[in-house]
Amino acid sequence: MGSISIFTQVKASLDQKKVVLVAVSKTQSHEAILERYALGQRVFGENRVQELTQKQAALPKDIQWHQIGHLQTNKVKDIASFVTLIHAGDSLKLLKKISAEALKVNRTIEVLLQAKVAQEEAKQGFDPSTLLQKSLLSEIAALPNLQVCGLMGMASFVKDQEQVKLEFRALKDLFDELKKSGHFKPEVFQYLSMGMSGDYQIALSEGANMVRIGSLIF
Ligand SMILES: *Cc1c(COP(=O)(O)O)cnc(C)c1O
Repeated sequence: MGSISIFTQVKASLDQKKVVLVAVSKTQSHEAILERYALGQRVFGENRVQELTQKQAALPKDIQWHQIGHLQTNKVKDIASFVTLIHAGDSLKLLKKISAEALKVNRTIEVLLQAKVAQEEAKQGFDPSTLLQKSLLSEIAALPNLQVCGLMGMASFVKDQEQVKLEFRALKDLFDELKKSGHFKPEVFQYLSMGMSGDYQIALSEGANMVRIGSLIF
């Protein structure tokens, strides 16, 4: 089966479940993106700022660009004027920088908090226990021109489906705790971004309502 027909199937099934599909277009050509745009896809995700800014300049203006990978503070200014959602809000320093750059361009920037639940060293994000500290949450919630819209995380890259499931479950529990914490408006704190090509079906069964899928649909 070609990648376009897989894309169409995945999109239809996610639309039906009211799950947001972030089509991860890193390393993909403009043509490949435009083919999926023509089929109704509007949300695309990139993880490198330089590639993101080039694609944003060249491609249709109604594309909603999500920055999905780790973001360096010195790069925030390059995307502040147009980015729709930053998934990897992984430190207070970065969140402060996003707030400051959003203020400069007179926008409110939407972000997700990234939590580290995977066992792997390389993964970024806040420790779940840190994220539940009231002082940290109040400080984040008070940052001007920044809106925290939910939580993002990744499971370990392992064959063990049970481990992946437990990690997604930990993210969902944390998402629910944060929603209940009262620091963020519940109608705004609404997205749980988890699941990629290899594990999005497990993520969906554990409560994801936003998935980031690349290789499977390109
Ligand atoms: C690349 C990437 C994805 C998509 O990965 P696939 O396995 O190609 O679906 C999702 N999330 C992040 C943060 C990524 O960097």
